[in-house]
Amino acid sequence: MTTIPKQGMERAEVMERLAQFRAHDLNWRSGQAWAYVYDAGDTVEEVCKTAYNAYMTENALDPTAFPSLLEFENQLVRMMAHHLGGTDETVGNFSSGGTESILLAVKTARDYTRARHPERGRLNIVLPSTAHAAFHKAAHYLDLELIVTPVHPETFRADVEAVRTAINDHTCLVVGSAPSYAHGVVDPIREMAQVAQEADKLFHVDACIGGFLLPFFKRLGADVPDFDLSVPGVTSLSVDLHKYGFTAKGASVILYANKELRQSQIYACAGWTGYTIVNTTVQSTKSGGPLSAAWAVLNFIGDDGYMELAQKMFDATRRFIDGIQAIDGLDIMGNPDMNLVAVSSDEVNIFHVADEMKQRGWFVQPQLAFGDHKENIHLSINPKALDTVDGMLAALAESVEAARHIKPDPMVAGASATFSALDPSQFDDAMFGQMLAMAGINGVALPERMADINGILNAMPASLREKLLISFINELYI
Ligand SMILES: *Cc1c(COP(=O)(O)O)cnc(C)c1O
Repeated sequence: MTTIPKQGMERAEVMERLAQFRAHDLNWRSGQAWAYVYDAGDTVEEVCKTAYNAYMTENALDPTAFPSLLEFENQLVRMMAHHLGGTDETVGNFSSGGTESILLAVKTARDYTRARHPERGRLNIVLPSTAHAAFHKAAHYLDLELIVTPVHPETFRADVEAVRTAINDHTCLVVGSAPSYAHGVVDPIREMAQVAQEADKLFHVDACIGGFLLPFFKRLGADVPDFDLSVPGVTSLSVDLHKYGFTAKGASVILYANKELRQSQIYACAGWTGYTIVNTTVQSTKSGGPLSAAWAVLNFIGDDGYMELAQKMFDATRRFIDGIQAIDGLDIMGNPDMNLVAVSSDEVNIFHVADEMKQRGWFVQPQLAFGDHKENIHLSINPKALDTVDGMLAALAESVEAARHIKPDPMVAGASATFSALDPSQFDDAMFGQMLAMAGINGVALPERMADINGILNAMPASLREKLLISFINELYI
């Protein structure tokens, strides 16, 4: 049992221990991790950390006590409004990330609609199947219904007519992505927003990953579809700064077309014995660190700096896509608008490719099959990738060849058949134990090679996958 040590450790020892904990972490500094980390290099990292530390202890709970934090937030919101087609009417807030920005947009739509149409009962959100899971989470937390619409099977862009048909009297929000995380393609936002507007519905653009970078890509000559607040009918937009703004994690901005909308976002509670709470976001006590870091990084890098970084990612993405097309057995899914690429294969098991890459020191993110969407590996392309893209492509070509020679394990086919036939509602602890045993998992320690486990998960219905992974995580944490 770990306890708080009776006597505190020496400062040096604490720091040394902290460093030791890293031993098994993903090594993102190598430029070989093509997921999870957004890296603009050492100098930006230094500026970010120094600025974060400077305001780490200040509390954004009360903007009147810390006008510094209010000023950072207002300036960041202004910068993003300007960057993303806003007007003088545009308002917004700084949140802890894309998920929180989305949660706020959904809550705002719900409360805005409820206040005006209390007779509408339980409300829903209309969203394409490619919209981020954060909307599903928001609907779950806020007790809303989801109406999921199909996307085009080859472009992975939302089907506008399906959206039009799905909207009903109970709809409070329609959603489009710019771009979707999984395939990196921008939905037909202009057409979708028009449909929403005609039906008198609010429309949210999830530009969490794209909002910062796409305007730079456009200036570099990329053919980026219109997606921002200048598109008629767009009422809110989320943009993460902790992705291609390259600031510290815990930084996103939610923008609204006007103050009347944002009114529904703000929560107040005077009905208790303590201080009256007025919160713009989910958090109450809130570190100033992410705010000061974001302000510092945006001002340090500047428009020219971001253009340079964007150019690197733009060039690396082109080289990567060309390179993939030259590798037998790999296909790019859709036609990515940004630096996010999904790669699938009709010839080899893509999960083995991911394992082979890992053995060669490269990290890519497996994405499981969903509906008609094939399993694939997902790559996000950092500025550093311009220097590593050739090595990455060579490793991929080798990994595909290696994967060709791996014989499928009959256990996977057997387990997949068993699990895909199970009724997810019957899932219990005993079944969880059985599944782990069948997949060869000892305790919760995952094997080096994940292809078989991914293969089994891939064959399961989504609802069983969810239950299984909840049980797994429930075991993983104490
Ligand atoms: C990352 C992302 C989110 C969720 O953001 P978090 O910062 O991970 O909470 C939502 N939508 C898209 C398109 C994203 O890429």
